[in-house]
Amino acid sequence: MLKIENYIGGSLVAPVSENYLDNFNPACGEVYSLIPDSDERDVARAVEAAKKAFPVWSKMSADVRHDHLMKIVALIERDLDSLATAESIDNGKPKTLAKAVDIPRAIANFKFYATAAMHTASEAFETVGQAINYTLRQPLGVVGCISPWNLPLYLFTWKIAPALASGCCVVAKPSEITPMTAYLLSKLCIEAEFPAGVLNIVHGLGAKAGGALVTHKDVKAISFTGGTKTGEWIAREAAPRFKKLSLELGGKNPNIIFADCDYETMLETTVRSSFSNQGQICLCGSRIFIERPLYEKFKKDFVERVSQLKIGDPLDKTTNIGAVVSREHLEKVLSYIELAKAEGGTILLGGKSVDLSNETYSLKENPKSAHPNPKSLTGWFIEPTIIENLAFDCRTNQEEIFGAVVTLQPFDTEEEVLVYANSVEYGLSSTVWTENLSRAHRIAERIESGIVWINCWLLRDLRTPFGGMKQSGVGREGGFEALKFFTEEKNVCVRIFP
Ligand code: NAD
Repeated sequence: MLKIENYIGGSLVAPVSENYLDNFNPACGEVYSLIPDSDERDVARAVEAAKKAFPVWSKMSADVRHDHLMKIVALIERDLDSLATAESIDNGKPKTLAKAVDIPRAIANFKFYATAAMHTASEAFETVGQAINYTLRQPLGVVGCISPWNLPLYLFTWKIAPALASGCCVVAKPSEITPMTAYLLSKLCIEAEFPAGVLNIVHGLGAKAGGALVTHKDVKAISFTGGTKTGEWIAREAAPRFKKLSLELGGKNPNIIFADCDYETMLETTVRSSFSNQGQICLCGSRIFIERPLYEKFKKDFVERVSQLKIGDPLDKTTNIGAVVSREHLEKVLSYIELAKAEGGTILLGGKSVDLSNETYSLKENPKSAHPNPKSLTGWFIEPTIIENLAFDCRTNQEEIFGAVVTLQPFDTEEEVLVYANSVEYGLSSTVWTENLSRAHRIAERIESGIVWINCWLLRDLRTPFGGMKQSGVGREGGFEALKFFTEEKNVCVRIFP
C-alpha cells in the first residue's frame, strides 16, 4: 500500500516514530494509503531545515524566487489530470470539479503570488527639513501553514504561495483527511529542484503535528484555515507566544433572493452555491432567504433542479455529487438533519444517506492511480437536502453543518432579512440576488460578512481581500494582504542635517 512521506529538507522522509495513519477513499470507504503520524520531532526537523534555508531564500530577488515557483507551476500544469484524479479519490469530490476548479486554482495561486512579489513596493515618508523615513518589508522567517480537507491543494497552495513568494520558509501541514495532493506536490518540488528546506510538508494529526507547529518557538506566524473551534485553540496558544496569526474559519452564509432577480441565473447559481463539493465549501450559501412573492415558485423549481443532480462515482464525468469526505462527517451531517426534524423542519428533498454499493468505482480513466483496484461504492454518500419551516434562530440555522443541507425561509422586507442574515455568529460570505442596484448596495453595506457576492457566487479575483468577520476569522488573505502578512515592517529614519 502506498506510504505517503513527509517532505523535509528537500527529501521524502518517514516520520521519526515510524507510525502511520490510515487514509481513506471516501467513495469506497476503504483505506487506500498510509500517512505519517508525525509528532513534535518531525516538526522540529522541518523547522530546522526551514531555518537553514531561510538566509539564502529570503535574500534572493523576487524574480529568482518567481522562476523557482514557476517551475512547480509547469509541473502542476503537466499533471493537471492525474492531480485531479488524485484529489477526487482522496476527497470524494467529483473529478470534473477538481479538474475545473481545485487544480487550476492551485496553479493560479502560485502564478499570482510568484508575479505579485515582483510588483511590491515599500513606502517612504519625508519629514520635511528633518528626515526621510523609509519602510522595509522583510520576510518573517519560518512560518506555519495549516489547511483543511475540503479544497485540499487549492487552499494549501493559497497559503504556501504567498509565504514562499514573500521570502519566508514554510513548514506546512495539510489535513490528515486529504493528504494526497500535498504529497504529490512535494514530489513535484523535488522534480523541479526546488531549493531544499524552503518548503517542508509534515503530515499528521491536527492536535499532534499541527499543535507542535503552532507552539514551536521558531515559527513566527501561523496561517490557518479550518474550523472555528480549532482557530480558537490556535489563537489561545499563539497569543502569548506573540505569533502573527491569520485565521480563516467557519461560515453559515446567507443567500438572499429578491423577487426582482434574474431568475434563471439565480436558480442555476443557487444549485451550485448550495451543493458544489457536497456543500463542503466554506462559501456555500446554506441559509436561503426568498422574498415571499417568489417563495413558492422558487421552492418548486429549486427542488426539481436539485432532484436532477446525479449522486455517484466521483470519477464519472456525469456525476454532480460525490462522496462526503469521511464517515464522521457523514454522521455529523445526518445528525443535523435529525436535529432539523426535531426542530420542526419539513424535509422537501433528500435527508438520507445513499447506498451505492451495487455500483462499481471506475478507475479506467486513470489506471495508474494510487487506488489498486476497482471497488464497490460502499463509501459515504448523502442526498442533497432541502428543508423548510424552520425559525431563523434555531440551531439548524445557526450552526455550521458544512454539508449538502440548505434551509429555505421566506421574508417580506429588507430590514427583516438583514436581521435573519446577521443573526449568526459567523460572517464569512453572503450572496444577494436583485436587479435593484440601490438595494444591492444597501444590503452590501449592512450585511455582516467579509465577502458579498451580488448576482453571482464564487466569482474570485485573487487581488481582492478574502476573509471573514465575527467568528469566521481574523485577518484577510488575497492580494497584497497575504504578502504583507508574511513580512514585518521596519521603519528606518534617516536624519537630514541642513
Ligand atoms: P479543522 O479545524 O478540523 O482542521 C483544519 C486543519 O487544522 C487540519 O490540517 C487539521 O489537522 C489542523 N488542526 C486540527 N486541530 C489542530 C490543532 N489543535 N492545532 C493545529 N492544527 C490543528 O477543520 P476541517 O474539518 O479540516 O475543515 C472544515 C472547516 O474549515 C469548516 O469549518 C470550514 O468552514 C472551514 N473552512 C474555512 C475556510 C475559509 O476560508 N474561511 C475555507 C475552507 C474551510
